[in-house]
Amino acid sequence: MLRKVLYIDLTKRESWVEERQGLFDQWMGGTGVGIKLLSEECPTGADPLSPEAPIILSIGPLNGVFPVATKAVATFKSPLTGELGESYAGGRLHLAMRFAGHEAIVIRGKAELPSYISINDAEVKIKDATSIWGIEAQTTGMILREREPGVGRRSIIRIGPAGEAQVRYAGVVVDTYRHFGRLGLGATFGSKNLKALAISGTETAEIPDARRYREVYNRLYSTAVQTDVMEKYHDIGTSVNISVLNWLKGLPTKNFQLSSFIDAEKISGEMFADNYLFRRLSCAGCPIGCVHIAALKSAFSPHHEFEVRKVSYDYEPIYSLGSNLGVNTAEGVLRLIDVCERMGLDVMSAGVVLSWATEAYERDLITPQETLGLPLQWNNVDGYIKALENIVKAPNEFYAALAKGVDYASARFGGQEFAMALGGNEVSGYHTGPASIVGQLVGVRHSHLDNAGYSIDQKAAKKQLDPEKMVDEIIKEDNSRGVFNSLVGCLFARGVYTEENIIDALGAVGITKTKEDLQTLGESIFEEKYKFKTREGFDLTRVRVPRRLFETVSTLGKVTPETVEEMLRLYRKKRGWS
Ligand code: SF4
Repeated sequence: MLRKVLYIDLTKRESWVEERQGLFDQWMGGTGVGIKLLSEECPTGADPLSPEAPIILSIGPLNGVFPVATKAVATFKSPLTGELGESYAGGRLHLAMRFAGHEAIVIRGKAELPSYISINDAEVKIKDATSIWGIEAQTTGMILREREPGVGRRSIIRIGPAGEAQVRYAGVVVDTYRHFGRLGLGATFGSKNLKALAISGTETAEIPDARRYREVYNRLYSTAVQTDVMEKYHDIGTSVNISVLNWLKGLPTKNFQLSSFIDAEKISGEMFADNYLFRRLSCAGCPIGCVHIAALKSAFSPHHEFEVRKVSYDYEPIYSLGSNLGVNTAEGVLRLIDVCERMGLDVMSAGVVLSWATEAYERDLITPQETLGLPLQWNNVDGYIKALENIVKAPNEFYAALAKGVDYASARFGGQEFAMALGGNEVSGYHTGPASIVGQLVGVRHSHLDNAGYSIDQKAAKKQLDPEKMVDEIIKEDNSRGVFNSLVGCLFARGVYTEENIIDALGAVGITKTKEDLQTLGESIFEEKYKFKTREGFDLTRVRVPRRLFETVSTLGKVTPETVEEMLRLYRKKRGWS
């Protein structure tokens, strides 16, 4: 199988394919290939919203071939943090890229007018999107489904008004209910006048050893569906963690002022499942079905006329738009998720920005004049909906600042001690202890999914891990996830893809790797990413930790600045950094 990169230049309206076998041989695919292409393509110091800043989409050798290898990765320069942007999405994109025969796509330049890219096998067209510019993300998807070929073998990714307005944490909606959520890929699309990308194809994957393939496939499939490795994701789903983390005192509440929520039961996974769950869906190629869809009934006229909107939910949006905003009804959370979905906003950043604004308003750092008369108060769902709309419209300096993220807004209006971002990225929903804080600080994209520090804290609660052991675990996860994200698998399936299974699966598609090869690859990918980060100005010795994280009790008790400092020192030492 020849492994190729599709290049698209929006400025010149050109596209071409290059064989890059050596690139894939060395960096596997997915995030490994993504970071190499970004380093090649992005000039040092480029403005993330300029035509010079590229977008890279990539998949790996197992996508479309093995179960639960269902993700695609976007690599770009983040307009939110100014350094590495990396975001993963499920849905059908990975499969459509495989069908079209493009394992990596590089998008350069800027279209003169609103446009979308249409890829069908080798044919690439840059089409006019003037008529859909300004339209919400979901409706855009519906329109393009009518216009674009390839039903059943197609993926459509698009931005909403937030991406067009270049809100720094705008996301890209992928097919239905999946997203490139974090770090502002939507703003990058918007800066290129790029509304959407539709991709489809008719190619098939080459399997050099069909017998071995069948054996490995069956083994992976039965581990996924017949053991308990992935069971929890199907049942109540990740939202089951609301009750668990609340009990553990790890559930961020009202901008991390508390770590448990008195009304947690009212927004628990069980509450959603019993009263709102409508159906479960899967990414293409996954037998699990962890995408939980709620039916949200709302009246749109006083004459008993109702609209039923389908809204996907999981743990992170319920934390960020629920407990963290003091919202104590499942319906309120769903209404807020729905607005983010339509606007094309990252729910996590949006919730954290609003929770900072609410506390700043409470402390009189922000006046009603700045909020345009909107009372930003805990649990005020209607007020939050209006505020989200204002963030996208940016009618004044205050809302324009909110659109740039919580670091920027707090630097402008004050309240940095409770501006909940680590490495410039709004924090995820875990106040479990020092590993969660350090994990997000050192992580390549400052996400809880870089190394699952929150899970290391929970392990530490059971078996006394000292700071050094926690750092060892963080490094191990950092490296091994680099390999898994090159394949590109769903992180929920990490228990299915043991090292042995990865080696066997790669063998079945003609790629020979040893355990040592995989370990070296993981380390190299991590180093490449840090090279890019430091090149673009990231400095681990100068990261800001909001004081709030040391004030509020966590699952492991109060975290001290000294513990975090010590772990960062150990981390740098073990990485061999001066
Ligand atoms: S477990 Fe969930 S997120 Fe992962 S591939 Fe399956 S449906 Fe998609």
